[in-house]
Amino acid sequence: MRNKLMIITVVALLSVALILGLIIFVVSTRQGRSPFGQETPAPTEQSTASETESPSETPEITEEPTEEPTPTPGPLAGLIIGIDPGHQASGNSEKEPCAPWGSDKNSSVNNGTMKAKTTSGTAGKFTNIPEYIATLQISLKIRDKLESLGATVVMTRETHEVNLSNIDRAVICNEAGCDVVLRIHCNGAENPDVNGVEAWVRGNGDGTAEYKALGEYEKKLAEELLLYFSAATGATKRNVNRSDNYTGLNWSTVPSIIIECGFMSNREEDVNLTSEPYQELIAEGIANWLMSTTSLEKKAASGE
Ligand SMILES: [Zn+2]
Repeated sequence: MRNKLMIITVVALLSVALILGLIIFVVSTRQGRSPFGQETPAPTEQSTASETESPSETPEITEEPTEEPTPTPGPLAGLIIGIDPGHQASGNSEKEPCAPWGSDKNSSVNNGTMKAKTTSGTAGKFTNIPEYIATLQISLKIRDKLESLGATVVMTRETHEVNLSNIDRAVICNEAGCDVVLRIHCNGAENPDVNGVEAWVRGNGDGTAEYKALGEYEKKLAEELLLYFSAATGATKRNVNRSDNYTGLNWSTVPSIIIECGFMSNREEDVNLTSEPYQELIAEGIANWLMSTTSLEKKAASGE
């Protein structure tokens, strides 16, 4: 009797132990652990395929509200202004014809008159700054000012390291259909007292009525321009001169004005021409002229 009871107890205990063991086994395998305490390596997710297929991985192209470069309709909107900063880091002594017309049109200056492609220009007698540096600084100020007022500005150069002949410069502005081209230069003279701003426009050229009319038109514009230049800067207003000797003018099919902004041989103007505040005044003077002139014919507006 006692033996039978003992056997039943042992069997019952064994059964409980077996069930407990089973439960522990099942629970531990579900948790990814081996029932023997060893870590089973977690199944690596097959992510390579999903990376390329998952639509969430493709970068969304968000339509940024790109600001349209619509020019602010400033007072100079519609005007195309050419600016040619005179000279460049190195002059080019190769020759090019000073004019496109033949000797039958003009016996003194014609396509047989050969001139250097680009001269090296003058330099500040007191600052030692070369003309090509001053002309670019001034030109960039003018560009910024005119663009801020809505004008379209065509620059023949924006760095010193270029190789542009005077014909090249004229062609750039011809092709851009400029309403007027400003050729920015600085002057030099033997006498250090000589000072002031002056301008040069074309002469008789090929002798045609059209050419003469263009020259007269340029002279009128230049006279106005010098008044505004002088008013803004305080520089002495000198004359507007006409000449057949400038390649850049002779090859220009659009109105073109050489502005000799001042004398680098004069102490005060040499310093002024290479100083930012004075350069700003030059830009202001030219902007004031363009905003006030009634002489300038807008080619773009008239659809010429
Ligand atoms: Zn020059």
